[in-house]
Amino acid sequence: SRCRIRHFFQTPRLPKTGETIHGDKFLIGFGGKGANQCIQAARLGAKTTMICKVGKDFFGDNYIQNFKDNGVHTDFVGQTSDAATGVASITVNDAGENAIVIVAGANMLLSNEELQTALPAISHAKVMVCQLEINPQTSLQALQMAQESKVKTIFNPAPAIPDLDAGFYKASDVFCCNETEAELLTGSSVTNVEEACGAAQELLKRGCGAVIITLGPQGCVVLKEQKSTSDHVPTTAVTAVDTTGAGDSFIGALAFYMAHYPTMPLEEMARRANQVAVVSVQAFGTQTSYPFRASLPDELF
Ligand code: ATP
Repeated sequence: SRCRIRHFFQTPRLPKTGETIHGDKFLIGFGGKGANQCIQAARLGAKTTMICKVGKDFFGDNYIQNFKDNGVHTDFVGQTSDAATGVASITVNDAGENAIVIVAGANMLLSNEELQTALPAISHAKVMVCQLEINPQTSLQALQMAQESKVKTIFNPAPAIPDLDAGFYKASDVFCCNETEAELLTGSSVTNVEEACGAAQELLKRGCGAVIITLGPQGCVVLKEQKSTSDHVPTTAVTAVDTTGAGDSFIGALAFYMAHYPTMPLEEMARRANQVAVVSVQAFGTQTSYPFRASLPDELF
């Protein structure tokens, strides 16, 4: 999974070439889809292990400490001197326009050989979650290692790449993406529940066990192999404050439910994951907005 430190600047306007301007606000956050998903699962009570790579630098040290503070095992978080910890510099002006620089850095140095050393942890897990923020071949190998050990897999094809290797579908017990990713992967428009149901059918045909497409305030659609029609799982209407990272909150929660309630129907897991993610959109930030088990209603557990 990718590890990334987010440097967030709020400025009256975006700086021009060669210009230095004063900003109004600066925040540092811990991100990367994998890290966010892992931390949401941990906050719900899952026992979690992160497999990734950061730099042997100040940010890498802080990044690892953030995992520890959230109860995530870090035995397989490697540190390298060959690249810096992944970073994203995000500048947002008063009009809400942004300019973003991302450097993947150490993330790209997680090798298949290093992944092999994590096999004892992978094979003892209940669920493995992978994304596309590292070398795709390493992600695919991780999913396949999990499946060979009869560990359930969730694959989140984000950020989406066209012509995704067919192996990813076959290695996914649950293939979970958002509307944009579903559109890119199927080549069809996905802007409403009906279109999402159609896209889910198309993705399921490619060989995954089940498909979930998240639809922001509309919740998600769930399609399982055994059935021929998708279920729309709506969510509660709220006033969203900041939806950044809602998809990761959803996937982290889904992983928690798959690990803790393996016999629960997937639609029910999705309904509960909606209820976790809806909390995350009602506060600012990404990981800072993710709820802990203690703050959620008992009926979700
Ligand atoms: P992001 O890229 O911001 O992390 P995403 O596009 O991957 O998000 P979404 O489909 O927007 O993911 O949202 C994921 C889940 O979060 C939804 O399935 C839903 O449960 C919840 N959610 C998102 N936005 C809202 C909203 N405005 N109101 C209620 N729930 C929401």
